[in-house]
Amino acid sequence: MPKTTKKSDTTLLGEKSGLYKLYETDQVITWCAGCGNYGIQNALKRALTLENFDIKDVLFVFDIGCNGNGSDKIGGYTFHGLHGRTIPAASGASLANPKLKVISSGGDGASMSEGINHLVHAVRSNYPMMFIHHNNLNYALTTGQASATTKRGFPMNSSPDGVIIDPINPTEFVLNLNPTFVARSFSGDIKHMTKIMRQALKHKGFAYVEILQVCPTYNKATPQKWYLDRVKYLEDLKEYKPNNLEKAKKYSHDMENEIYLGVFYKDEKQPNFYERLEYRKNLQTSPVEEVQAYPIKELLKEFT
Ligand code: SF4
Repeated sequence: MPKTTKKSDTTLLGEKSGLYKLYETDQVITWCAGCGNYGIQNALKRALTLENFDIKDVLFVFDIGCNGNGSDKIGGYTFHGLHGRTIPAASGASLANPKLKVISSGGDGASMSEGINHLVHAVRSNYPMMFIHHNNLNYALTTGQASATTKRGFPMNSSPDGVIIDPINPTEFVLNLNPTFVARSFSGDIKHMTKIMRQALKHKGFAYVEILQVCPTYNKATPQKWYLDRVKYLEDLKEYKPNNLEKAKKYSHDMENEIYLGVFYKDEKQPNFYERLEYRKNLQTSPVEEVQAYPIKELLKEFT
């Protein structure tokens, strides 16, 4: 059972609370009461603060969806892109300016259907970024249609007689793509999410973090208590080490009875995409710094 946080976040962060406050905004929150997005964004701010990331060094790239509505609820540079396309935008930004810490967020609707191809190629490319996968088992922003992670048999607004196809298990899916960092956490456990995100932020390649997110408004299949009764922690297993893909797949498989959370797998030795660019080796500058004004006056003469 997850331990709950008693003190306020800024109190717990001590002298770092000033940095935490920079990530806060005064925008009106539009998420429903009890939505898992509150805890996820809180954990993200805490993780960034504890890892000493200044807001000027971070870019948040949001997808369309309820998670995407968090784009103006966090201080700093944000980009709110098209549905299913958060990863391409984030990887482009990350490669253009590798000094930025790029954090991309997407839901199960966007990233297990329209954008699943981008997720596959981001994993195999090992782009330097963290991806937070909000898995609330439905298309919530459009009022509760079934997604690729909705439980089979469960009625949704788009399938009142129950979903007839099996769901994808996102963590297990990514573990089959030869990844370098895969973790899972739960929106009802801010401390655990913070711990996982801190590790993901330190990873130099593509850090995949699935968050099992409650959506009390549209996902009645897996409410908070359902998860609380089932989640287990890999870190409580003395023999578990996140260096064995086959073992990771085994522990990630069960999504009904014992749902494991934690870092399933990490490989810090693999070079990320940027490091594989031979022609950039030993260069001290980034592409952003190398952009030059291009004289187009001559080219335009033809049209004047
Ligand atoms: Fe959160 Fe669900 Fe409400 Fe969207 S619909 S804000 S995911 S509770």
